Amino acid sequence: MPFQLTDRFDRKITYVRMSVTDRCDFRCVYCMGEKMTFLPRKQVLTLEELEWLGRAFIELGVTKIRLTGGEPLVRSNILQLFQNLGKLSGLNELVLTTNGSQLVKMAQPLKEAGLKRINISLDTLKPDKFQKITQADKLDSVLQGIEAAIKAGFQGIKLNAVILKNRNHNEVVDLVKFAIERHIDISFIEEMPLGTIGSHDRAEAFYSSDQIRSDLRQVFNLIASTETTAGPSKYYRIPQTNTRIGFISPHSHNFCDTCNRVRITTDGHLLLCLGKENSINLRDIIRQHPDDLEFLKQTIINSIAHKPKGHDFELNREPQIMRYMNVTGG
Ligand code: SAM
Ligand code: SF4
Repeated sequence: MPFQLTDRFDRKITYVRMSVTDRCDFRCVYCMGEKMTFLPRKQVLTLEELEWLGRAFIELGVTKIRLTGGEPLVRSNILQLFQNLGKLSGLNELVLTTNGSQLVKMAQPLKEAGLKRINISLDTLKPDKFQKITQADKLDSVLQGIEAAIKAGFQGIKLNAVILKNRNHNEVVDLVKFAIERHIDISFIEEMPLGTIGSHDRAEAFYSSDQIRSDLRQVFNLIASTETTAGPSKYYRIPQTNTRIGFISPHSHNFCDTCNRVRITTDGHLLLCLGKENSINLRDIIRQHPDDLEFLKQTIINSIAHKPKGHDFELNREPQIMRYMNVTGG
């Protein structure tokens, strides 16, 4: 029997999300603070170290790896990592989360490197709102990037939209129509309190998945689906369309019981839960014991024993998690 990483609550760990850079060409107000400093290069995992970690996790029973960030596609030579991870046997799914800004030039090379599925963030279709939320004037590049990804023929494309009250909550119907017209999926995400931000009060901007569903039901016939994609999303279908609508609801519906994932932060910490600070520095293990894959694997096995049962995000309570999403790997 191949080894299967399992925690003390009998949850099988089959999914790793890696933040390949904390840098980004956007400054989304829910993700980054006003004065961000980025990690010095020495502290960031090299592409070889990321691949080495991927290899260790796959040998421990992980079958899905997501590369995220920061914006993964602004990291130089990132295609090489896709190509190398894509060749490792045992990995069933290699996927990407991107803001879409680089897809016009990168969609086709990513497809050729073996990437099958891609999540693209899109919170609004309106240029002024896009500018306010992302603090970047790149809606056109993102929309063109989405078309380039569709043209490249990925097996799955999903839009991710973080919904904030009085910012973009009145666009949920338009975003679903946009997805339906393109035969792609869309997930709505409740904002999570990671890092201190100055732009808005997270509690005041909270807009629940239940509210979004109720808004959508004014226009669409949402049918709850039993399918899962080994993630925290609850899925719905709209008859006569190919579009699935997902809801990621860390506040209103806790998803810890079925958690199958861990994260690797940009600086090489194994983060056992998005909503807790427990982490183990795997970068030092790799650098102190280069070439010793067995030692790395044993460290990962020992670390998984500390995976917490769950998190409780509280919008009104201090202290919040101090990590920002870009380092964590959302
Ligand atoms: N830059 C890429 C992107 O935006 O898709 C990948 C990294 S980003 C951190 C991954 C996802 O996390 C995006 O869909 C983003 O909207 C979401 N995200 C960032 N900060 C968040 C927060 N505080 N709460 C909920 N989702 C967040
Ligand atoms: Fe960049 Fe993605 Fe964070 Fe926006 S959500 S600032 S695109 S990492």
